[in-house]
Amino acid sequence: MTVALVGAGPGDPGLITVRGRELLRACDAVVYDRLVAPELVDETPADALRIPRDGLLQKQIDDLLLALGRQGLEVVRLKGGDPYVFGRGGEEALALAEAGIPFEVVPGISSIAAVPAAAGIPVTHRGVSDRVTIATAHAADGSPPDYASLVAAGGTLVLFMGLGRLRALADGLIRAGMAAATPAAVVSRGTLPDQEVITASLDEIADVAGDLPGPALVVIGDVVALSGRLGLQSRRARLEDAPDAAHGLADPMLVLDEREADEALASRSEARSG
Ligand code: SAH
Repeated sequence: MTVALVGAGPGDPGLITVRGRELLRACDAVVYDRLVAPELVDETPADALRIPRDGLLQKQIDDLLLALGRQGLEVVRLKGGDPYVFGRGGEEALALAEAGIPFEVVPGISSIAAVPAAAGIPVTHRGVSDRVTIATAHAADGSPPDYASLVAAGGTLVLFMGLGRLRALADGLIRAGMAAATPAAVVSRGTLPDQEVITASLDEIADVAGDLPGPALVVIGDVVALSGRLGLQSRRARLEDAPDAAHGLADPMLVLDEREADEALASRSEARSG
């Protein structure tokens, strides 16, 4: 018997690990979050117990995992992104550890970098940003983030659970000294077919992106400006409305010389047919 805390990835069902999918396919019970792809829950055997955790308090989830584990079942606790990133996975693991129930943690692709990437934003970029600060806009005790330390950190700022308080976040950062013109993005439902991306300056982002559907990630920093060149797959209707959303093809400097590209393609098809 084992309880596996499995990261489901950021949304796209293709972004789970091989290990995670193996465990899903062999489990007796799955307890899953609302944010995980339904396709992944469907990977479980037809006779597996499928238990949505909607409406349960954290304590009840912990108790449920203990009860299932004690019955000797192979249990998958399927969580959005990575289990140990803002997912309360650590609390579930502690409950299991204290009860002496064997458990395994299978990392997942967190939205930390995957969601910005899906919007054409590399969270670090040589010469642009050499660090990333990850924070929640939603502290356990309801207090606001420590804006001064977020600003002092420099580099890229990735904020979880920030959509509902976007204006307060932007105002707080600007008051703490961040430039109002700093590029900002909201990536809604990242990696999913209905992903939307809106970019604007920090002082305007709340006006243009506040009503996007969740889940959404807020990305702030100069790397956001790269989304215009790298975010080809993120071109959505909403993006066209965004004030600073310059979208186009990749930097010509990065594109192969046309003749070299033709030669490369020709030799590849020769190699394949030969
Ligand atoms: N464990 C998860 C995070 C859970 S907290 C992980 O590693 O990604 C939930 C928050 O994550 C959401 O409020 C949102 O800020 C972010 N998030 C998760 N999935 C997302 C997605 N597909 N698109 C945008 N933001 C997402």
